[in-house]
Amino acid sequence: MAFHRFKALEAVLTRTPVNVTLPSNKVSEFFGENVFGIDAMREYLSEEAFSSVMAAMQQGTQIDRKMADQVASSMKAWANSKGATHYTHWFQPLTGTTAEKHDAFFEPTEGGRAIERFGGGQLVQQEPDASSFPNGGIRNTFEARGYTAWDPTSPAFVMGKTLCIPTIFVAYTGEALDFKTPLLKALHSLDKAAVDVCQYFDKNVTKVTSTLGWEQEYFLVDEALYNARPDLAMTGRTLFGHTPAKGQQLEDHYFGSIPDRATSFMRDFEIESLKLGIPIKTRHNEVAPNQFECAPVFEECNLAVDHNQLLMDVMEKVARRHNFRVLLHEKPFAGVNGSGKHNNWSMSTNTGKNLLSPGKTPKTNLQFLTFFINTVKAVHDNADLLRASIATANNDHRLGANEAPPAIMSVFLGTQLSNVLDELEAKVKSSGKMSPDEKTALKLGVGKIPDILLDNTDRNRTSPFAFTGNKFEFRAVGSSQNCAGPMTVLNAIMADQLIKFKQDVDGLTSKNVDKDEAIFQVLRKYIVESKKIRFEGNGYGEEWVKEAAKRGLSNIKTTPLALGAFVSKQTMDLFRRNNIMTDREQHARYDIYLETYTKKIQIESRVMGDLVLNHIIPTAIKYQSSLVENVRGLKEILSGADFKKAANIQLEMITAISDHINVIKTKVDQMTEARKKANALTDVKKQSVDYCEKVKAYFDDIRYNVDKLELLVDDESWPLPKYRELLFTK
Ligand code: ADP
Ligand code: MG
Repeated sequence: MAFHRFKALEAVLTRTPVNVTLPSNKVSEFFGENVFGIDAMREYLSEEAFSSVMAAMQQGTQIDRKMADQVASSMKAWANSKGATHYTHWFQPLTGTTAEKHDAFFEPTEGGRAIERFGGGQLVQQEPDASSFPNGGIRNTFEARGYTAWDPTSPAFVMGKTLCIPTIFVAYTGEALDFKTPLLKALHSLDKAAVDVCQYFDKNVTKVTSTLGWEQEYFLVDEALYNARPDLAMTGRTLFGHTPAKGQQLEDHYFGSIPDRATSFMRDFEIESLKLGIPIKTRHNEVAPNQFECAPVFEECNLAVDHNQLLMDVMEKVARRHNFRVLLHEKPFAGVNGSGKHNNWSMSTNTGKNLLSPGKTPKTNLQFLTFFINTVKAVHDNADLLRASIATANNDHRLGANEAPPAIMSVFLGTQLSNVLDELEAKVKSSGKMSPDEKTALKLGVGKIPDILLDNTDRNRTSPFAFTGNKFEFRAVGSSQNCAGPMTVLNAIMADQLIKFKQDVDGLTSKNVDKDEAIFQVLRKYIVESKKIRFEGNGYGEEWVKEAAKRGLSNIKTTPLALGAFVSKQTMDLFRRNNIMTDREQHARYDIYLETYTKKIQIESRVMGDLVLNHIIPTAIKYQSSLVENVRGLKEILSGADFKKAANIQLEMITAISDHINVIKTKVDQMTEARKKANALTDVKKQSVDYCEKVKAYFDDIRYNVDKLELLVDDESWPLPKYRELLFTK
């Protein structure tokens, strides 16, 4: 139920920070205490079961049923010791959030008794009532069966009173219904492809893991104010609201001191996160008022994805204790910066080498250049797919706005590395062959570069995909997104690219070209072929839009169109050949994403209509009536020029209010008609395009007129908390 903003504001002004005390001054004493991690496993599992789980985690081997029984009973004993009474398979359906279905550890038996029960069967597989999760037509209703299956590579944990077991979610046919299944497959492909390439440089490399460090941005809003804004509560963003006189112009919030209530919330969710083994490390204010960011130390990609999903959950739960709501939406407030989730990505070997960090020797530097240039090539060849991986209704508000990376994919390398690539291109070309000295000089030169980029001040912040010294930072990812989407794509295209690279190099060495020379020649070819994706300038500028068009780079501004890259021949071939997704899975996903887009805009449009008809117009009319009353009174006591003078402004306001109401009502009616037409379409693609181009098209006009009314109508009677209150009330 919504309530008037004054009541909400009163609630906010009487709040005090919740007292939060650290369980111990040493994080090491409670870090991971709610995780069935290596220490807990060693304590609770037999030696045999322990090595079986470790092998599954590290080499992906199967755990047999007998062993699963053992693991289950130990896991349950551990969970009970933490106070857990229930267990759940924790999974990531394509809705974007996480799902869980809680079962008690006991099972009823005859005679009204119960026995405690949690065996290998329950650990390994479950059949949640899955018909309500999106499946894109994969699961026919008469076969509405989906399974969750244990993912031993991500450890189980206890949240509240529930043991949560990370799982994948598939249809009874084995087809993926979640984010995690294709991610695991992409990570596996990358591992294999990268190990093969590493073998050129170091025979000791037997495993390559993809690493991810995300940076989560979010807004905090007081719960009372949130509840007084039906649009925030229903859509995650404000559909109306005039920009406050003071916005973020002063940028005084950035790195400023964090208000007490917020600090106390952060401390609390950090403690909970650390207990869950999420290595959360930094926190700071963001550019916009009431906007913050937190980031962990990077981890293996699958675990990092789980930890981010978990963190978003924990944040939302803990926020309630502090009378806050966390806004993870990409653009909760118009005219104020939106939120992203930078995905810092790299690859590391079992020998402890970060493949995107140059070393001290010529050999490791050539290895660095190999992975570095292959990344650029992979992004160049699959730019539209990467763009699709971050396409959501929410993120459309950010991409291309003057605050977030553009919808045009490009890669920032930094001046020094750009020079290295230029030099490599020129040298290999001019001589046909580089002299050994030249090669060594080039390889050594690379080693000095990243220090400059690691220095935070020398970075380009407007690039959607930037090299930052020892990793690439995919900046265009949205704040509420599951990182698994973009990470599946990035790792898959990299795997595919590395396989091609190896084929190209082996093709030359089989013709007796020396290995080093072959690598240089192939890298040079890639540099030439992927040149147009490199951009070092201002990604927010208008000139870049023109320049990018000239270069033939795509600039796909809306989600329904961007998503098309998921089902292009090129993408489907890529996913199929790397065993990551079948055409059917890929099509199903595409349909789900389109439907999700349509639903989002549909809900926003309906909420907009409701708010206008039930809150805005009635409030405006009431206020207008008081003006009319005033004019009538003036007419009683004054006449002629005196009356005109006294009633002039009121009359103008009365007309202005009528004008705005008129436009609003007309547009809302037209929008409803457009919605009806769109709803009648049966083709999901056409429907989403209609919602984007015909329904959403009314949003700006309606909003503009509502925001004008907000300025006209008496502050006392305006029902919705205003921007200045949402953003500046502590
Ligand atoms: P900033 O980008 O603000 O300078 P950092 O360089 O510390 O901050 O990194 C930001 C994020 O990138 C952190 O989550 C960090 O753990 C992560 N990161 C650092 N190195 C890697 C890596 N090799 N692979 C993936 N993520 C990394
Ligand atoms: Mg960063």
